[in-house]
Amino acid sequence: MTDRQHSYNNVDVLISTEDICKKVLEVGAQISTDYAGKNVLIIAVLNGSFIFCADLVRILNLKCKVDFISVSSYIDTQTQGRVKVVSGIKEDIIGKDVIIVEDIVDRGFTLDFLIKEISLKKPKSIKTCVFLDKKCAREMEVAVDYNCFKIGNDFVVGYGLDCSGFFRHLPYVGKIKESV
Ligand code: 5GP
Ligand code: MG
Repeated sequence: MTDRQHSYNNVDVLISTEDICKKVLEVGAQISTDYAGKNVLIIAVLNGSFIFCADLVRILNLKCKVDFISVSSYIDTQTQGRVKVVSGIKEDIIGKDVIIVEDIVDRGFTLDFLIKEISLKKPKSIKTCVFLDKKCAREMEVAVDYNCFKIGNDFVVGYGLDCSGFFRHLPYVGKIKESV
């Protein structure tokens, strides 16, 4: 990709900063109501959810802890996507009401893996909060308990989501233009 292709000018805005702010506020308020008085552990999935999680947790009117997990996908000899933990959770999970915060659910493999992996550590409950849901791309059924936006099958960037490490810092969600 050339420098020009990485410019703001080369991204079509799909979800504006204003719409993101409103929706994250709404979801945060709902979580605050649902989890009042509970023993909450927020687990942010790195790298993609770093901006969403930072915005979300600052809205929560809750006593909670925040930890991070880093996973990566890889292809093996089978056709299914595989996921592995690159850096794990440090907080104790036993008895906690865990909320997994993820940037986007696409085919569903990553979230399915995370739910199974974290369930092994005996939380009291486990729910998912996903910024973007590409429902039409789903290959693995997975529970999305809180969601900000549903999108189509476009590859999107911004608000934490990258393309080869770039574009994460954009304050909106967009689609890279086909050609410049
Ligand atoms: P899944 O396992 O659900 O197929 O994939 C989830 C992961 O794929 C996300 O956490 C994200 O890293 C990546 N991903 C899926 N769709 C997109 C997209 O449109 N844009 C970006 N930047 N990453 C995506
Ligand atoms: Mg992700």
